[in-house]
Amino acid sequence: MRELFAVFGNPVHHSKSPLMHNLAFQRLGYEGCYTRWLLTDGSRLKKSFLDLGLRGVNITVPHKEAAFEAADVVEDFAAEVRAVNTLVLKNGKLYGYNTDAPGFYRALMKLGEVRRALIIGAGGTARALSLYLRSKGVEIEVVNRSAGRLEWFESEGFVCHTWESFKAEAKDAVINTTSAGLEDESLPMPKTLLDETLSKTKYAVDVIYGKETPFLKEAGKLGLPRFDGSQMLLQQGILAFDYFTGHRYTLEAIEEAMRPFLSL
Ligand code: NDP
Repeated sequence: MRELFAVFGNPVHHSKSPLMHNLAFQRLGYEGCYTRWLLTDGSRLKKSFLDLGLRGVNITVPHKEAAFEAADVVEDFAAEVRAVNTLVLKNGKLYGYNTDAPGFYRALMKLGEVRRALIIGAGGTARALSLYLRSKGVEIEVVNRSAGRLEWFESEGFVCHTWESFKAEAKDAVINTTSAGLEDESLPMPKTLLDETLSKTKYAVDVIYGKETPFLKEAGKLGLPRFDGSQMLLQQGILAFDYFTGHRYTLEAIEEAMRPFLSL
């Protein structure tokens, strides 16, 4: 019998996860089927999982913290960021993982060596990426539009700036984690500051997917190697698939099976 998987979120209609995972199930010959499920109440996450008879789920906005709460066993990094994006049922227990930041790191490493990175933005994505990249030896600096959200980063020992105190320095990668450009044409920092920043980096990366953001367009004008959020989406999906299928395949085989979804 096919194992059933889903993505939980609100909204969830835009999610590309069913496409990615079903393609990989099909191409690898795994008896799995993946759907999407609108979850309005995060406190009902575990009940919904069990009622639907699922083997595993991915969790997207706004339920990653609820998924952390619902898990019986939580892997180290997910526990550190208190956010779970992958749950798998094993021997009656829900195991929780976070594959977002490790997926991002896998994508980043494909660009080349990254020792020093600037993260623009100070939201949930920036938190997870900063902690994970630091754990991999990447020196992180954070710049944000306003001071409020930087307090957490300062308490974690990251070098932080608002636009006012920021001075561009040489970096290997500049990573946009803001939502600037998601639904408008705005840049994540004032243009002169951004242009100076991009002129001193090797690579530019955005976590937004589905469009070329103004940030990536600026990076493109300078000819910088770059990628958008679809690579992070793909890589987090590969790692989640690996948990779903109990490490049956190599990550390379999963990537080969899943990657074509990018052009579907
Ligand atoms: P949050 O709401 O937690 O944080 C948003 C951040 O963006 C804040 O630092 C905020 O600054 C900043 N910001 C918002 N608008 C602007 C603007 N116009 N100019 C400058 N800064 C701005 O967001 P998340 O961290 O949850 O998500 C961020 C992005 O990451 C989203 O676009 C989301 O789609 C994407 N994402 C992609 C994933 C993928 O798999 N590819 C996975 C997860 C997220 P301030 O503090 O001043 O308000």
